[in-house]
Amino acid sequence: MEKLTDRKRSEIKGRLEGIFGPENVTDKVHDLFPYSYDATECEPHMPDFVVLPEYVDQVVAVVKLASESGVPLVPYISGNNIGGLTIPERGGIVVDFSKRMNRILHVHESHMYAILEPGVTFGQLKKHLDDHHPGLRYSYPFAPPFSGAVGNAMLSGMNNMSCAHGSMGDWINGVEVVLHDGTVARVGSCFLGKEFRPDNWHSRYPMPDLLGMFVNWQGMTGIVTKCAVQLWPRRPIETAYVGIAYGFETTAELMRELGRAEVIDDISAVSVEVAKMSVGIPTPIKIPEEPDFALLVPVSALTRKHLEAKYEIIQDVFAKVNRKHGNKTFITKFDTFASLVGEGVRAFYDLPGVVTPLVEYSGLTWFGSYAPPEHLGTLFEKANAIFHKYNFPAFVYSKIMKSGHYGIFRSIIRYKKDSEEDRAHRAMEEFFDLGVEHGCIPYKAPVWMCERLKEHIDPNWLELFKRVKGLMDPKGILNPGRWGV
Ligand SMILES: Cc1cc2nc3c(=O)[nH]c(=O)nc-3n(C[C@H](O)[C@H](O)[C@H](O)COP(=O)(O)OP(=O)(O)OC[C@H]3O[C@@H](n4cnc5c(N)ncnc54)[C@H](O)[C@@H]3O)c2cc1C
Repeated sequence: MEKLTDRKRSEIKGRLEGIFGPENVTDKVHDLFPYSYDATECEPHMPDFVVLPEYVDQVVAVVKLASESGVPLVPYISGNNIGGLTIPERGGIVVDFSKRMNRILHVHESHMYAILEPGVTFGQLKKHLDDHHPGLRYSYPFAPPFSGAVGNAMLSGMNNMSCAHGSMGDWINGVEVVLHDGTVARVGSCFLGKEFRPDNWHSRYPMPDLLGMFVNWQGMTGIVTKCAVQLWPRRPIETAYVGIAYGFETTAELMRELGRAEVIDDISAVSVEVAKMSVGIPTPIKIPEEPDFALLVPVSALTRKHLEAKYEIIQDVFAKVNRKHGNKTFITKFDTFASLVGEGVRAFYDLPGVVTPLVEYSGLTWFGSYAPPEHLGTLFEKANAIFHKYNFPAFVYSKIMKSGHYGIFRSIIRYKKDSEEDRAHRAMEEFFDLGVEHGCIPYKAPVWMCERLKEHIDPNWLELFKRVKGLMDPKGILNPGRWGV
């Protein structure tokens, strides 16, 4: 976007104040600045305005204004995506949903879904379910509790029930979305009826799945104003085990086998350095004799006997891997592990929570990806070498999703923004090359990563992608600059 003239800026400001009220519009530099950057090394860009919507009508009005004036819109929840995805690449209006458009509109007990406004946070949803619907549960990432549940689902997040139930993108039953010209459309079974009804958001099949036009698009195709996410029955017993593994391939095989056993809610495998970080060692060094990975394995059960049966199956998996690899893995109860290494490790289990090792530096960046499970062992080994090369503590985070249909491979760097950003970025470029070489698909990918990814993908996919973007956003006002378009 060309720089706004003073006249145009003041005209747009007047119109925004008419839509939202003057107290919900700002163009003051000190208000705009926090929206210009995030934890990553992605290049900062200032927005021109920040607005705080409360109602769908206001979102429609601001989309129409943007469409007429050509000013970009950047939808924003808490900017916690770790991919620079809310940095206003071309300036414009940041639409911050977190302050006023954050209602839990409905929880349907029998169909097990919640209809959320975009600003609803994980902490808010957890509290609401605990207080009002104790028989239902949702799933949480390692993100802080003030991050958005809708943002996470719309970006195909991976949470603490992902081994059992897959990517959070699969948990979306439907959305209400404002299109580039202000049209409000409902997608999913909620398309029945002329008006919004809270009782018909139970699925997104079997009509053509138009949700694909919005999920993972980083706000580039429409602005979501309602989103229905699946809830699950809360089980009377929720507990966790901790696995310890020596060897990268052993760890990967253990994860795959645990996934296929179909008795666990999730696995989060982290480099052993992370376990040390969690108990207060900020720059841990692995001693050669130490294990390579720690695995957090949440499990839920209906009865004690159910849990015992699951635990027996889990122990059998460990025994099977040990027979093959020579006693390289161990399992214990999470409570035992926490009492041994320190209670700080509970931050990884009591979600949503602030996982201190992730946020104790000024910078946080990652190569996160959906990964083919069979390559995880190689990825762990090669990533470890890259961490050492760039002199950062190894911080690999990995999961097995949906019983093993796909995995997660993430290399994380916490760094000091003032002195380590360049080194962190060069390491990220190597993690990207490593991942793509082994079939990984980056998620929440920043602009620089999308540019590099373009060199590796089907050119006709790219052509189709650009056509869909052109159709959904002909004036280029919806979070422009992402994917370089
Ligand atoms: C320390 C830390 C740990 C994390 N761990 C995990 C993890 O374990 N698993 C995991 O999955 N994630 C993890 N995350 C990421 C996080 O869960 C999600 O990406 C996050 O919840 C979405 O971020 P947000 O709510 O701040 O959305 P934002 O970052 O504000 O927005 C995300 C994207 O959605 C777009 N958007 C926002 N609102 C709308 C709208 N109304 N309509 C259309 N598009 C919109 C934005 O433009 C942007 O492209 C972690 C993040 C942090 C900081």
